[in-house]
Amino acid sequence: MKRLPSILLVVGLAGPALYAAAPATIVVGYTNTPVLPSGWRVHDIDRPQPVVVAPGGTTASPPSDAIVLFDGTGLDQWIGTKQDDPAKGRYNPEGRALWKVEKGYVECTESGAIRSRQAFGDCQLHIEWQTENPPRGDSQNRGNSGVFLMGLYEIQVLDGYKNRTYADGTTGSIYGQTPPMVNACRPPGDWQVYDIVFEAPRFEGDALVSPACATVFLNGVVVQHRTEILGPTSHKKLPVYRAHGKAPLVLQDHSNPTRFRNIWIRELDVDGKR
Ligand code: MG
Repeated sequence: MKRLPSILLVVGLAGPALYAAAPATIVVGYTNTPVLPSGWRVHDIDRPQPVVVAPGGTTASPPSDAIVLFDGTGLDQWIGTKQDDPAKGRYNPEGRALWKVEKGYVECTESGAIRSRQAFGDCQLHIEWQTENPPRGDSQNRGNSGVFLMGLYEIQVLDGYKNRTYADGTTGSIYGQTPPMVNACRPPGDWQVYDIVFEAPRFEGDALVSPACATVFLNGVVVQHRTEILGPTSHKKLPVYRAHGKAPLVLQDHSNPTRFRNIWIRELDVDGKR
């Protein structure tokens, strides 16, 4: 594969709130990061790009047993995270979610990530999102947000339409770990749909018994199939599990005005079924 010039600048993910990244300059991969079990480096610049697949055009309404987290009218199910420290299991119950709600969607306003009031474990999640059009920025700075399951495990949200970035950081990736099977992105300005089946990790005391895994559909196209999650999302580092219980869903503030709508979740319990 043709190697790009190794002018690799930093998109920072600093501090305990990994989803509160600062914007920076263009990055399309790295050559000096640790090696994953797959043999690829974290954010490997040479990891093959997902094949482009054109998705169909449907969305989904919540089924009768779903918990509706956002129906287009308000953020009463959400809390701002600026004073949270998820690495230590500390959450600020008083934080207000300051993202902008209008026209049936909620838009990131660079006021910090938001998290659900309710904590979840195994779940089915439906969430629709839209990146700005015309697009601005490149690579990780174009339409970046993220769906952090349990506040720790990121399914990347990014404008991945004709936007080169490292494969394990593109749309539908388990960020920093596993690229999507294909690139099923619609163009920026179109609504994109994630349907996710997530199995929480199991712990006994501090020991990991079974890792988390996720099945992800992007616009109706499977991009992850029961993919093992190697640990909490990290930037340029290998993930390391730490024991935890149920935790809120988090939507990342990556300083891009990404929009979300029609967010609903169904609690699952997959014990005995895996
Ligand atoms: Mg992200």
